[in-house]
Parts: sequence; C-alpha cells; structure tokens
Amino acid sequence: MRTLLWFRGKDLRVHDHAALHAAARESRELVPVFVLSTKYFGPGARELAPHRVQFLLASLRELAAELAARGSQLQIVRGPAARAIPELAQRLKVDRVLVSAAYEPEARARDERIAGALKVPFVRYRGELLIDPHVVRTGAGGVFKVYTPFARAVREGLKDLQLYDAPSQLPPLPAGLKLRTAPLPELQNPNPKIILGGERAGRERLKRFLDGPVDVYPSERNRMDHEGTSRLGADLHFGTLSARSVWCALADKSDISAEARERFSAELLWREFAHYTLWNRPTVLDEPFRPEFKGFPWQRDAAGFEAWWRGTTGYPIIDASARQLLETGFVHNRARMISASFLAKHQLINYQHGEVHYFQYLTDGDLAQNNLGWQWSAGCGCDAQPYFRVFNPITQGQRFDPEGDYVRRYVPELAELPARYIHAPWTAPASVLERAGVRLGKSYPRPIVDHAEARKRFLLVASEHLKSGASVHP
Ligand SMILES: Cc1cc2nc3c(=O)[nH]c(=O)nc-3n(C[C@H](O)[C@H](O)[C@H](O)COP(=O)(O)OP(=O)(O)OC[C@H]3O[C@@H](n4cnc5c(N)ncnc54)[C@H](O)[C@@H]3O)c2cc1C
Repeated sequence: MRTLLWFRGKDLRVHDHAALHAAARESRELVPVFVLSTKYFGPGARELAPHRVQFLLASLRELAAELAARGSQLQIVRGPAARAIPELAQRLKVDRVLVSAAYEPEARARDERIAGALKVPFVRYRGELLIDPHVVRTGAGGVFKVYTPFARAVREGLKDLQLYDAPSQLPPLPAGLKLRTAPLPELQNPNPKIILGGERAGRERLKRFLDGPVDVYPSERNRMDHEGTSRLGADLHFGTLSARSVWCALADKSDISAEARERFSAELLWREFAHYTLWNRPTVLDEPFRPEFKGFPWQRDAAGFEAWWRGTTGYPIIDASARQLLETGFVHNRARMISASFLAKHQLINYQHGEVHYFQYLTDGDLAQNNLGWQWSAGCGCDAQPYFRVFNPITQGQRFDPEGDYVRRYVPELAELPARYIHAPWTAPASVLERAGVRLGKSYPRPIVDHAEARKRFLLVASEHLKSGASVHP
C-alpha cells in the first residue's frame, strides 16, 4: 500500500499520532507531506502571524528530522492544499491519503472538497482533541451550552485512554520518487522571546510543569507575576503534544493533590469546550453566540483601540498585557481576561477587533479558544461571564500582581513606583511620582477612561440594548 500522510500544522509530532501510527503499520511506501499555505507563506503574509509562524517553522524542522531518523523524508510543497493534495495523490499514484481530522469550519469545508476531488480514500484520524465533538451530547441528544455538565460528560469518556508510541521505523518513500520539495522558509529576524517550537521542547515543558508548578497550580495560576501555568498553549495548538498525552501524563502523576489534578484538567476541558462550541456553532467566528448581543452598539474609536493594543491606556495592567503580547507572543490568562473586558466594556470597542489582534500575535493563537475567550470576556459567549461583571483593572492588578512585578517587567517607565501605587499611578502623591521618575501625561499616560464612569456607561448601554430586544427582532 502506498500512503500519502498529510501533516497539517496541528499534529506536528511523532508520538501519539494516530494517522502516522496507521501509516507506519499498514503501508509499504509512505510519502509524508506538509503544505505551505498561501495564506501564511504567500507574498505579503509576513506579519500575519509572526510568532505562530516562528513556532511552526521550528516544529516543522524538528518533525522533518524525526521522520528522517526513522527512514522517511518530509516533503514540503506549496499550497493551496485543496489543489496540491489531490494533484500529488494522483501524480504519486497513492492508494490513500491519511490525515488528522480538522475541526475548524474552513478546514472542514476544505477537507470535504479534497475528499471529493480525490480518487482514493481520504481517511481522517483523531488527533487534535481529547474526544470528537460530535460524540458529546446531553442526555436528550442535544448540544451542551454550559461548561460544567459538558466537562462532566467528557471526563466520563476519557477513562483508559490509549496512546500511540512513536513508530521506531517508517516505510520508505516510493523508489524513484521525483518530487521537488520546497525549502522551509527561513525567518530573517526570529524573536528570541518566542517560546521554542518542536516536540522535544513541548515534552520538556510538560515534564517541567508536572514535576513542579502543577501542585501549586490552583493557587498560582492567576498570578500574573509568577510562572505558574504550563505554557503548553502553543504545543496543544500545533500538536507538538497531543491533548490526550497531556491528559494521560496528568492522570499518571500520582504525587499531586486532587485539587491540582482537577484544576489543571478543568482547563484542558475548557479548551475542549471551545473547540466543541465552534464545531457545533461555526457562526461564532462572525457573530456573538448569544443572539441578544447582535447589533450591539459598539463605538468606533480608532485612537482608543490603538492605545489598547500599543499599551498606552494609562492602566498599567492593561498596558503590561498589551506589551507582553507584542514582545513575547504570550499573555497570561488573567491578563487576557482583564484586557479583553477592558476593551469591550470600558472602551465599548467591538470585541472582534481585539480577537483579531490577539490571533495575529499570540503564539498559541487558536480560532476556537481565542473566540471563546473574547466572547466570554465580552459577556456574549457560550457560558460567558455575565455581561454586568466588569473587571476593575486596578483591583485585579493589586490582587494578582501584588508587588507590581508583572507591570514593572513590561512597563519599565513605572519600574520605580512603589507597589502601593503601581496599579494606579495617578493616585500617587507628586513627590512619589517625582522620585520614581514618572511624569503623568508625559512619560506615562493618564488613564484613557475613568473606571467608575466607564463601568456605568457600559452597564447602561448594555442593559438598554438587551432590554430593547433590537437585535432579536431587528
Ligand atoms: C481573551 C482571551 C483570548 C484567549 N485566546 C486563546 C488562544 O488564542 N489560544 C489558546 O490556547 N488559549 C486562549 N485563551 C485561553 C488561555 O488564556 C490560554 O490557553 C492560556 O493562557 C495559555 O497559557 P498556558 O498554556 O500556560 O495555560 P494553562 O493554565 O497551563 O492551561 C493549560 C491549557 O489549557 C487550555 N486552557 C487554559 N485556559 C483556557 C481557557 N480559558 N479557555 C480555553 N482553553 C484554556 C490551553 O490549551 C492551555 O494551554 C484565551 C483567553 C482569553 C480570556
């Protein structure tokens, strides 16, 4: 049997790779392929997702080496995949094409087109998620709209998971294969602060987390100034680690508290819930999950948006998170929540603008999880935070960055301010500001909005919109 195995950027590993495992077991010849998408590698695509592209390229390089070490060779071809894969399959006379299943709406539609264009079977294996979205149903056969019962149902289905070992040897390329494999693009200026891609780095991150921070995860995960989370977001997105292998590694760890196990697995299930929601309701990428939020009177405020993404709102915690994103490709989850809430609620700017910006710069940027996070923060999503809960950026900072170290790291112009004032510099006496070298309105901006007024304005606008039912009966 001659097999084409198409790696798709969300399964960049050799361990626990169901399609690779099947290909190794059942094929006489194997052609592993990666398609460089025109979207991310076409002309002018440089700035589309710089951090994700960096992680992807590092992961691909390592995958190519892992395949080579097993007697195979990754073939890099240019997209679009909808054209390249059927053409390749035909030219190489393969007997089948194997892939890890895709769940995002565009990828699903593309796969349907490819399956239709191929003259050989197109076989989809599990890979990206813990469990296939279509098998998770309520007792009445419906779709879960609330996280807790969803998580309970998924946990039930995850007992005794089997993982696939990395194959020790792979079938060779077809003899005499003539394929012009494209070189992997080189980045001109890789950003040294971006988390290292590749399966090995991912496995090390997982081990480091499980050997230490996981035990204090319940108390530390909200501390923006500490490294208390796993940093596995990009690994799970690009599939340098399978979600199942993370789940099993956690289950196998006997020396951690039940609370830590529960808390960390609950976050993996939030990831699952995000993908499940997108799979069942693909329209969330274009509109709020809750129909009553359609037509919400967001404000056009280009200057306000720019202050938000550049990190010059005058609220140190918001500014630190904005700069952390641009500098490192990462934002702590608590900071993501506070910042997203600030944009949608304090600034009344459509959450979709923030969603696009995060997707561009997050190394773990993921359509489903990013959308869920934004809609949750704006109050319009599936099982979202109630709209009337408006995070206070000052007290959130004081609580989850008590010494101000997170702010100091990313907003150096405030570094000399004492902790007591660092989350609200405008409350500091003039002498304190002067000693810290802070000149409000000059070296650091004054707050772009007043917290109490902005909160009141949002609650008024939102309650009027929801009362009017304008969106439901336009
Ligand atoms: C506005 C906003 C946007 C977000 N955008 C993304 C995104 O594009 N990609 C992304 O992976 N996560 C996103 N999240 C969720 C969360 O912030 C990140 O998964 C987390 O910060 C990644 O860091 P970590 O791996 O150290 O997380 P950990 O706390 O160690 O969690 C482990 C894993 O669980 C999953 N997870 C954790 N929290 C959540 C959550 N709230 N929702 C869904 N999955 C979760 C992630 O896969 C994460 O890697 C977003 C959250 C918000 C509020």
